[in-house]
This record gives sequence, structure tokens and C-alpha cells, in this order.
Amino acid sequence: MSGLANSRIIAPDVGVPSMLGQRDSQATIFDGDQLYLEHVGDRTFYGYLARHRHELFHDEDFAVLYNPDIGRPSVPPSLLCVALLLQSFEKCSDAEARDRAAYDQRWKVALGVGDLDKPFTKSTLQLFRAHLLIHEKARLPFERSLQMAKKSGFLRSRGHLRAVIDSTNILGRGAVRDTYNLIGDGIVSVARILSKLSGKRLEAWAAEQDLSRYVGSSLKGEAKLDWSSEAEKETFLTGLVRDAERVLKLAEGAKKGLAADDVRGEQLHRANEILRQVLLQDVESKPDDDEGGGKRLRQGSNGERICSVHDPEMRHGRKSASTRFDGHKAQVVADVATGLVTAVAVVEGCAKDEEGSLELVQESATNTGLEVEAALADCAYGSGENRERFEEAGIQLLAKVPKLPRSDFFNKDHFEIDLEAMSCRCPGGQTTTNLLKAGWQTLSSGRRVQQQAFGFSARVCAACPLRAQCFKRSEGIQHGRQVRLHPQELRLQAARAWQRGPEFDEFRKQRQVVEHRIARLVQLGVRQTRYFGRHKTLFQLLMAAAVANLTLVAGSEGGRYLGKQLGALRTAFLRLPVWFSALCRLLDPIPVRPCPIWAVRLLPRSGSLKWADSRPGL
Ligand code: SF4
Repeated sequence: MSGLANSRIIAPDVGVPSMLGQRDSQATIFDGDQLYLEHVGDRTFYGYLARHRHELFHDEDFAVLYNPDIGRPSVPPSLLCVALLLQSFEKCSDAEARDRAAYDQRWKVALGVGDLDKPFTKSTLQLFRAHLLIHEKARLPFERSLQMAKKSGFLRSRGHLRAVIDSTNILGRGAVRDTYNLIGDGIVSVARILSKLSGKRLEAWAAEQDLSRYVGSSLKGEAKLDWSSEAEKETFLTGLVRDAERVLKLAEGAKKGLAADDVRGEQLHRANEILRQVLLQDVESKPDDDEGGGKRLRQGSNGERICSVHDPEMRHGRKSASTRFDGHKAQVVADVATGLVTAVAVVEGCAKDEEGSLELVQESATNTGLEVEAALADCAYGSGENRERFEEAGIQLLAKVPKLPRSDFFNKDHFEIDLEAMSCRCPGGQTTTNLLKAGWQTLSSGRRVQQQAFGFSARVCAACPLRAQCFKRSEGIQHGRQVRLHPQELRLQAARAWQRGPEFDEFRKQRQVVEHRIARLVQLGVRQTRYFGRHKTLFQLLMAAAVANLTLVAGSEGGRYLGKQLGALRTAFLRLPVWFSALCRLLDPIPVRPCPIWAVRLLPRSGSLKWADSRPGL
């Protein structure tokens, strides 16, 4: 039996789409939470959802997802939303989520469904998720997690927020290929649509067009090349490019025959653009082969390179100078005081950490309703420009100044720059006030600024015993050492002074909060995306963040609950002598020793024991 057998799907309220399934708030004795809550444990995450699911989600919140007239009443969306939270909590597939909802007592408790209920099918869950994304409701569970934190008192409702931001890599879902296979994949993705348009199977269409090698088992394996021969590789590549250009022409012809609103036209256009981009980014014409149209691999690549045709939004990114990844980057903001995740974003894998950091911190303020007083970050966010942006927005950015690149000579840190006196003192004890123009610099905002540098006299430097350690002299030119001034030199100097001060230790401790939150999100599976594309990857991250927040809230609530239980136990224990005296008085008229004063003094006091701030494994 499928569906809610004991379901209390009630008639929708007036003004609500008639296809929106709504749960009856009246519980029955057959509901999972009525039967098994104690067994599963009401301090577990399942117990928390059982007790609070009615506050978390309301069916009417999802009314926009449903047609007012056509179809059948849906599975209540509030139930599906709880199922998505459980799925993220347990990192299981859609099929597994369906089965657990049908057979797992813990899921039945959290969902509030009966023993024999099979509340949803796999496709229902998939369709619901797709609708959340299409109708821009994907953020709702995350926003509700913050609202629940506020409601429970875990997150303060007034005051200031000290936000801490950091990023982590997310491995993409698409297969990462070399250029030959990437072109092959691009040809297949266009060919697949063209074959559908012609009403033929892909293999048959490819055979007709002499493109069978692209739909075989291995493009490179079947090529039988001597892969050590550059000439053979270039001939192979030239053949691939020719085929790709032929397929692109076929696609252009097919597009003309489609109506403007035909969705297949849009699909074809997208596949064409990806193939074109792959050819553009990875292949170039051989300069010495004007007639033959010979091609060769383009050397070097930029961060914008498409590395997977299956997920064209994946990018090459770097975790460090030596470690690379292919996929996306998650930006995470957390509240220092509670550890709650207050905002998340998924950006390109090649994006700089500081890109969009101000907007995300401001989003934290919107999500929590609190004013951000300071944003804490690592040195990847600490450029002068980013500091300026935060300052203009009225938010203090606390971040280390990025280290200067290693050098064989004295770097800028060896010089004392006095911006008030506009002078510079070198390690050799010489001071200069000579300010030179040192070219133009384009900032990441696109603004061009004139650079300035302090210039030491060539005569002074020539006579200096430290000259060999100070700079490398250009051949044939007499010049002294120059020290460039950063456009935001004042801000960077202030940040360096703060770094050396006593507040820095506290900052270091507080910054750890976001590291722990990222570790929790990774524990919930965000290191590897389950979906293709950044939009769906963001959905996965939002669900993980919602679960991370709710487990924190549930943990804190559990602490209060346990505190109450322990308090009651202590009260009962301390009352024992009093009850014993009373009992003795009843049984025996002879006065007994009164209750000891220490017991009376220890009689119940208000307040509960705090059990834990964080119980991530709840
Ligand atoms: S070489 Fe010039 S700038 Fe460098 S330490 Fe000597 S005097 Fe100072």
C-alpha cells in the first residue's frame, strides 16, 4: 500500500490550491511519534523533528508549487520537507529515503506517519525537490532553522552578530576529461539531441553521419595512436575538431527547423555553446599550417576552463598552491557565539575567496535579523580592496594581511613606512621621502589606480653594504631600491598592527568556529555534490546547513530537557529525609528527629543544568 494509509490529508483552506495536500494537525494513536517517540528518544534529532515539525513547516508555505485546479491532492509538502531534512541528515539516496520513510521507526516518528504508511515514492521526492528549486523555495528549510533557533532562545533576537566566514571545496559530479575526450563528449551531447530530432537511435544516427567512433567504448582507445608522437596526436586532434565543426553546422541547420518556443531548440543551443567553448579554450590553429587547417592543443589554461561537459559549471580550483580540485566552492558564514550557520553560497571553483564575501555577510544579517558588527576571516579575505568594501558598508573586517611572496631580497616588511611623514626607512638605516610614479594597477573592481613608490637614491644604494641583499640591479642602469605603496597602504598597516596586538589570540580562537561548522557540513556530505550544476549543489548545501543548525538547536534543547530531568531527580532525592520524617510521624506518634538543616538548605533551587552547547552527532 502506498501513500498515507492513516493519512489525514484534509480539505485545503479557502484560497489555497485544491491540489495542495494538507496534513490534519490532529494526531492519531497510530502515528509513529505517538507509538515510538519514547523508544526512539525524544532528545534525538528524530524526536526533535517529531515535536517541532508543525512549527518548522506549514503546507500553505508551499502553495505556489501546486496547481489550483489540475491533478490530484499531493503528498503534504511539509512532510516531504521533513523527509528532505532526514535525507540530508542520513546522507541517503532518494530510493533509500523512500524505504526508510516506509520501514524505519525513527523516520516514522520524525514524519509522524503510521506503521503501515508508505508516505511517498521516490519520484514524488524528486519532483518536490525540483519544484522547490524552480519556485525558489529551496532556502526555506535553512531560513526556518534560524527562526527555530531564535524561537528557542538559542540565537539571541536582539544585539549584534559577530560573523565568521570561510570557504571549502566541493567536488563536482561531472566526469573530468582531457581535451580529446572533452571534445568527444561535446560532440555526443549535440549528437544525442540531433538523433532524437531525427527520430533515430543515437548509434544509428552516428553511423549515418560517420561519427560512430564517438559512441563506441573508448574514443582514445579505438584511435590506435602512438601517443608518444606529437604529429599523430595533432592529426587526431585535427580530425576531432573537423567532426565537431561538422556537428555544429548540422545543429545550426536543425535549429532553424524548430519553433521558437520548442524546448529542444534551447537544449541544442546550450549543447552547441558548450562544444564551441571547449574548442575555443583548448584548441588553436598551428601557426605554420595555413592550408591544412592543422590544430594543436592550446598551452596553459585559465580558471574559466570547462573541465566537464556533463557539468559545464565545474571549474578547476585550488585548495592550496599545490593541491587542486575540480568542482565548486562553498562559502560559509557562521555566528561566533552559537556556531549557527547564518549564510551559505556556492561559487565557481576558481573564484577568489573574497569575491561576494561582503554580500554573504550582509545576507547573514538579513537571515538572522541581527546587525553584523564584525566579520572574521582568514588572509584570503584580507586584501586592501576587500577591507575598503567592508569599511564602506560599515562592517569591520578582521583578517590577517596576506603574506608577501617569498623573495631572495629584502621584502616590503623590512622597510618602515611612515604615512604621516610620507617617508620610508630601509634596513640599512637610510630614509627617503622621494615619492615616484610607478605605473598603473587595475583593481579587481576594474578601477585603475596610479601606483606610487618610495625611491632610494642610486648613489646611496651603490655605497650600501646591504645592497646585494636588497635588490637585483638591472643591467646597465644605475638605480636605487624602490618600495611600492599599496593603494590601501593605511588599512594594511592598521591590520598588521592589530595582528601583532593582544586581540589577535582571541580572534584566532573565534575564527575556529567556522572551521568546525565546515567540518560538520563535510560530515553531512557536502564535500562531494550529489547533483550536476551549482544551483542544485547550493540546495544540498542549504539542506546540510539547515540540519547542522537544527541539530545544534535540538542539542541545546536536549540540554535544557536533561537539566529539568536531573533537577527533578535532585529535588526528589533531597526531599527524601522530609518525606521520611513525615512518614515516621504518621506511623509513630513519638516525635522523631527533625529533618536535618542541610537537607532543607539543599531543597530545590531554580535553574537547570546545561548539558551541552553542541551535539553534532545527535
Ligand atoms: S641598498 Fe639602498 S635601500 Fe637597500 S638597504 Fe642599502 S641603502 Fe637601503
